[in-house]
Order: sequence, then structure tokens, then C-alpha cells
Amino acid sequence: MNDLKQPSAPPGAHRTASDERGQSSAVEPHSRYHFFRVIQSYLDAAAKLAGTPEHVRSILSEPKAEIIVHFPVRMDSGEYRLFKGYRIQHNNILGPYKGGMRYHEHVSLDDLKALAAVMTWKCALMDLPFGGAKGGIKFNPRDVSRDELSRITRRFFHALGSNIGPDYDIPAPDVGTNAQTMAWALDTYMNTVGMVSKQAVLGVVTGKPVSVGGTHGREKATGQGIVHTIRFWAERNKFDLQGKKLILQGYGNVGSNVAVLLSHLGVSLVGVGDHTGYLVNPEGFNTYRLKQYVEKNGSIAGYPNGSKISREDFFSLQADLFVPAALENQVGPAEAEALQVRLVAEGANGPCSPEGEAVLQRRGIDILPDVLVNAGGVTVSYYEWVQNRRSEQWTLEEVDERLERAMRDGYERMEHFARAHHCDFRLACYGVALERLARAYEAREIFP
Ligand code: NAD
Repeated sequence: MNDLKQPSAPPGAHRTASDERGQSSAVEPHSRYHFFRVIQSYLDAAAKLAGTPEHVRSILSEPKAEIIVHFPVRMDSGEYRLFKGYRIQHNNILGPYKGGMRYHEHVSLDDLKALAAVMTWKCALMDLPFGGAKGGIKFNPRDVSRDELSRITRRFFHALGSNIGPDYDIPAPDVGTNAQTMAWALDTYMNTVGMVSKQAVLGVVTGKPVSVGGTHGREKATGQGIVHTIRFWAERNKFDLQGKKLILQGYGNVGSNVAVLLSHLGVSLVGVGDHTGYLVNPEGFNTYRLKQYVEKNGSIAGYPNGSKISREDFFSLQADLFVPAALENQVGPAEAEALQVRLVAEGANGPCSPEGEAVLQRRGIDILPDVLVNAGGVTVSYYEWVQNRRSEQWTLEEVDERLERAMRDGYERMEHFARAHHCDFRLACYGVALERLARAYEAREIFP
């Protein structure tokens, strides 16, 4: 197999998105970040608060399964490249494994283990009948053609085979993937594993286009959930959102929908960044136009109505709200010292390092944690899965109404735990989740 090429960077070569374009300014400054260890330390702290039995804490400290597949794909040039794909299944005591598929050049086993665990806490906090999983492929989807992307996705899901399924493990979009990726995944699954009962396996993935069994409201669901939680926080803090300023990192599915939906509440986007760099516009960006621009051009680079600024200057912009909606570990101590906002709402998973979080807390900047804030996506994914099982199609209004109620219930569960245990919101989210998981283990006990 001499003609198989490895697409990933050599071990130890921590390339950044800007390196790929030959620029020198790093956009990911903390490359040796141990995300999984960070998640384990939150688990340990919350288990103490929640009085979680030691054997349950220990089960939850590692995933149940770590699946790695290698698969060849024919590229447009006629060459073959070997890809490495992962699916980490963290826990399924509450229901089928559930979580996104990430296509990114920095995908790693340890980060996916952390992200899969966060899915377990998220589903438990939101009272969904799902466990936690995460997966992906280590490559840059921007480097390949649409046809290549389709073949990579299809070979990946073919390689996963019956390791996924509508009652077993249900993938969804994440960074670098979208509704189209899920449509290819569904089609592959239906034509291989699920070929004898195609309709019965519609729910094998969520975040699909509405035309192939997706739900109304899924595309904006994560952004909508983030905006609901910001609203609940504002209500409690008597903070009028009208006329306030937002800075946002990441203008993909999550970030762009947050910006558009917050603009409906009178919040203006004054600073924005993505993998290509950062822009400022003190008058406020037209969030719709920027969304259309990014959909057409793949990034904010070259958008005419904004001036370029450095990453450092972006973090010190005067604003009221900051929503990180890109990748993990973006707010370390330096960024946390620089931020001039009242609230950080974690749209991305794990955007604040523990050191960054400590600085924000010391400076009196509130944090709404990922486990709750971005749970709107998996919540509406659950609605999609229920509709698939019942052969139903709910209206957008119905989905929106249910989502708002679900986010409010999650917020109240978090607040209640934080008050009862005198802890911050992140540990409260973990605590609520652990209580629910521990009840399930207590009733079922450990086999045999
Ligand atoms: P996406 O691929 O649609 O967008 C990702 C954005 O991040 C893009 O704008 C990209 O340019 C930017 N980005 C990538 N690398 C960057 C870097 N080094 N510096 C600055 N910006 C960078 O992905 P998404 O679905 O919007 O996911 C964003 C975050 O939200 C992730 O942490 C993901 O896990 C989380 N999340 C997504 C969903 C969902 O439903 N899609 C649900 C819950 C949580």
C-alpha cells in the first residue's frame, strides 16, 4: 500500500490553522493542553459535592469504548489517502450514546474522550434519555473537494458499521461537519447496515437536512439555547440586553446563529474572529450579511465592513458579552485578564482553561458553562430522534417552545444545585448530572 498517504501532521507538530496558510501569528496558543485531565478534575470535584459513590465516579472517569478506524479514500487526483477516524463512547446508562462528529486537523483521542464525557453530563443535566459520545477524523475539511469530503464521510461511516445505530450510538454535526455530512452518513448507513428496514434507521444520525428526516429548528438550536440561557442570566441579574455589545469567537453554526438571534434582542456584534483572524466594527456588524458571507466564502476573511485586529486586541475589546464558539482552551489567564465583559457564555465546549476560569472568577466576570449553555443542540437532536421514531414532523414553533422550556428547566436545576452546595455553575452542572447517573447505577447495580 505504498500509494497511501497520511493526511495528518507528524507527531509533535502542533500546526495551527494559520500555519497552514504560511502565516506566523498563532491562533491557538495553548497547544499542550490536557483537556481530558481537566474534565476528570471537574468530575472529581463535583463527585465530592454530590456524594457520588466511588465506583460510579471511577466508571465515569474513563469512556466505555474507544473505537479507532483507519480507512483508505480515493482522492480526486487518483491517489489514495489513509485516514484515521475515532468514535469515543463514554457512557450509555441513561440511553444510547449521543454526540457530534468533528472534522479538524487537531482531532485527538484525548480531546474526544473529554468531549464525549461532556456529552454524558450534558444529556444527564438536560434529562434526556441519552448517554455521551464524540468522534471525528483528524484532517482539515477545507483542504479537500466536496466529492472527496463525501467519500471520506461515507468510508468513515462504513468503517464504523454497527458500532453506531439509532438505538445504540447516534452521531450529529460538530466542528467541520454539518447537515450535508449527516445526509451522507445516513445514506451510507441505510445502504449498508440498515438496508432491510430503511425507515426504522432514520434516527441513526441527527442534525440531518429537513428533507431527509431532520427537524425544523435544529440548525439554529445550539445558538438558540445559548441565547435563552443568556436571557435567563440577564433576567436574574436585572441586566437589560438592549443596546449591549457582543464579541464572538467562531462564526460557524453556533456563533453565527448566536449573533443573529442576539441581534433580535438589541445586542450588537462589535468584534468577531475565526480561524483566519479577527475583525472589529464599533458600529456593529450586520450579522445576517456576515452569515451569508461566511456561508459563501468559508470564513470572515475579506469581509468588507470591519477592520482587522490582532487576537490580543480582540480579547481586550470593550463589550458586555463574550461568546466563545470555536474550540476548547481559548481563554487562558492572559485572555481572561484582557476581557472587558460582564459575562462569558460558553458556546464552544471547554473554551476556558481552569486557570482562565480562575482569573475570570477573581475579576467578577460571570461564566455560563458549556454543559448547560450549548445543550440546545443535543436537546433538539433528541426531538429529531423522537420525530423519526414516530414518523412525525413537528412545527418550528413546537420545537422552539419545547427547547425554551427545556433550557429553563436545565438552568433552574443548575441554579438549585449551586445554591444548595455553594458552588459555581460548572460544578453545579456536573453535580446535577452525577446525581442522575448515580441513581441509575444504584437501581441497576453493576453486572453481574
Ligand atoms: P463550525 O465548524 O460550524 O464552526 C467553527 C468555527 O470556529 C468557525 O467559524 C471556525 O473558523 C472557528 N475556528 C476554528 N478554529 C479556530 C481557531 N483556531 N481560532 C478561532 N476560531 C476558530 O462548528 P460549530 O458546530 O459551530 O461548533 C463550534 C463549537 O460549538 C465547538 O466547540 C462545538 O463542539 C460546540 N458545539 C456545537 C454544537 C452544534 O450543534 N454544532 C452543539 C454543541 C456544542
